[in-house]
Amino acid sequence: MAFERDPSAARSLSDQVEELLSYEGPLPIVAAGDPVLRRAAEPFDGQLDAGLLTRFVAALRATMHAAPGVGLAAPQVGVALRIAVVEDPAPVSEEVRVARGRVPQPFRVLVNPSYEGIGADRAVFFEGCLSVPGWQAVVPRHAAVRLRALDEEGRALDEEFTGWPARIVQHETDHLDGVLYLDRAETRSLSSNQAMAERWAQPTPAEAAAALGFTLPG
Ligand code: ZN
Repeated sequence: MAFERDPSAARSLSDQVEELLSYEGPLPIVAAGDPVLRRAAEPFDGQLDAGLLTRFVAALRATMHAAPGVGLAAPQVGVALRIAVVEDPAPVSEEVRVARGRVPQPFRVLVNPSYEGIGADRAVFFEGCLSVPGWQAVVPRHAAVRLRALDEEGRALDEEFTGWPARIVQHETDHLDGVLYLDRAETRSLSSNQAMAERWAQPTPAEAAAALGFTLPG
């Protein structure tokens, strides 16, 4: 039996986005504790018409830039759809770029993304989340992933990501499954932004691991 969507639910999602876009400026970002961040988002299948999707994506991008962040998922603005945006100009030192594989990632829209790890290698670095403001923690993630998604035009994307871009697409796709980075984090690494700036700005978390008492794989 084909999946049937409740037409009234579809209308309300469209109405919800129209209302969000009726305000000026960046969209309000939802913080941890809101159930929308803990539910699997609905696959996108035309709930927003093409014009509304374009406007919504533009608002997500502007909100990501304003935050600033390198990725933003629709549930982070309270919209339970499998849509995310990513973009990273990677303004980091050469040393950090090499250690973390943080290379520039152009703007892209991920619709209905899913990923699978490639190989057993893990990359282990601090990361943060706009929905968990003020904190960062070390998260072991697949060093390389195969990402399947659609773009905003509905074209299929099937691509391998490595380095920091692999971390970004895993983080954003996890949001669409109701997963926050804290679920995967080394909890002993949890550090305030102040501690990050004052103590843990090194290219890798090795010193933090020794001082805070967590182990790094490998
Ligand atoms: Zn996040």
